[in-house]
Amino acid sequence: MENQENVKNMEKQFPLSPAAEKALQLLEESGFESYIVGGSVRDFCMHTPPHDFDITTASSPEETKKVFAQYRVIPTGEKHGTVTVMMDGEPLEITTFRKDGDYLDGRHPEKVEFTSAIEEDLLRRDFTVNAMAYSPFRGMKDPFGGQSDLKRKLLRCVGDADRRFHEDALRLLRALRFAARLCFDIEKCTHNALMNLAPLIEKVSRERVLSELNGLLLARDFERVMAVYRPVIECAVPEIRSIPQADYLSALRAMTRLDLDLSLRWAALLHPLGEEKAYQTLKNLKAPNRLCEDASRLAGHALSPITVQTAKFFMNRLGEDLAKQLSRLQGALNVIPDADAVRAEIDRVLESGECYTLAGLMVTGNELKAIGVTGRDIGKTLNLLLEKVMAGKLPNEKEALLRAVH
Ligand code: ATP
Ligand code: MG
Repeated sequence: MENQENVKNMEKQFPLSPAAEKALQLLEESGFESYIVGGSVRDFCMHTPPHDFDITTASSPEETKKVFAQYRVIPTGEKHGTVTVMMDGEPLEITTFRKDGDYLDGRHPEKVEFTSAIEEDLLRRDFTVNAMAYSPFRGMKDPFGGQSDLKRKLLRCVGDADRRFHEDALRLLRALRFAARLCFDIEKCTHNALMNLAPLIEKVSRERVLSELNGLLLARDFERVMAVYRPVIECAVPEIRSIPQADYLSALRAMTRLDLDLSLRWAALLHPLGEEKAYQTLKNLKAPNRLCEDASRLAGHALSPITVQTAKFFMNRLGEDLAKQLSRLQGALNVIPDADAVRAEIDRVLESGECYTLAGLMVTGNELKAIGVTGRDIGKTLNLLLEKVMAGKLPNEKEALLRAVH
């Protein structure tokens, strides 16, 4: 009988990392009920390797620190009960069982209360598939049917969806991100609450909104989720309201043809807005400058075809890296038929050393001055010469260029 139990347990063995396994063992040996929890349990059940292991434990942060006195302990968020322990070079986040207090501002729990019951800790978690805990010593804790929702590919709030979204509006966007990442449908009550409560997203800090949206844009099934939940996306990014539905859908389609690259995906999504508005949209989301600039410049040039003939002009205006990205964007948008040929041309220009910038032109402002060009005409003339060189109408040679001025 006991043997049979063991065999059953073996079948359910969770391939924990050695560090996570050791941490659970140390905690249990000190008398503290402990589990791995959240994303890693979900990933395990779906047969995807977890990228990290979060541990939840009955020990208080003080007690956790004592258990791991031999190890390097980083007090990451003790207020929230979290201690990070470095084990064999692997950082493990170990958090005391928590029940969250009232959320007055729709974002931060007013107070964090610890508890000794794992069930209470699971109760505060967002979705049933994220509210499972596992320990090799205690088996699986799945009080809300997370495994059954995983089988049915359903994302469902733990408890009353309306209440859970009111408590923390970030969960609205987490719902979209997880639905897209896992290719899940959103369960009906959760779906209705999501649609009704979308305006709550305005309460969430822009940085957090951006981070969830970035995750969504890179998730496997973003196209379906962003099409169905457009009203929610519009609450997160109000500028999107002005994009006609047909353009919105074809932007999503184009995004599926792009690499996992945020500048490209944002550029495709926002290109119907034009450069300035795309820039402002990302600025409003507090995106880093690089992303604001790259995505908006790409968006602004999305519909002017970059071809083998015009490649140098785009290299001049955008730099070679962004010009290559632009070819990818336009390929995805079906603006140009052969993006590969454009990139081959860009590489050819770079290798051949052909001129596409003023710096590469074989004549300087001073040399123009010396032959009598003055004032503003110097800049104008240089640009005119560059254009002719890029178009192949003049060789990039000093004498020929100076001769062309006269
Ligand atoms: P990922 O692979 O994206 O890290 P994850 O499930 O680990 O997925 P995290 O954001 O790292 O997601 O959060 C860890 C766990 O903490 C979640 O699985 C969930 O149980 C809980 N959690 C995180 N954020 C919230 C929230 N806003 N409301 C309720 N529970 C949350
Ligand atoms: Mg995680």
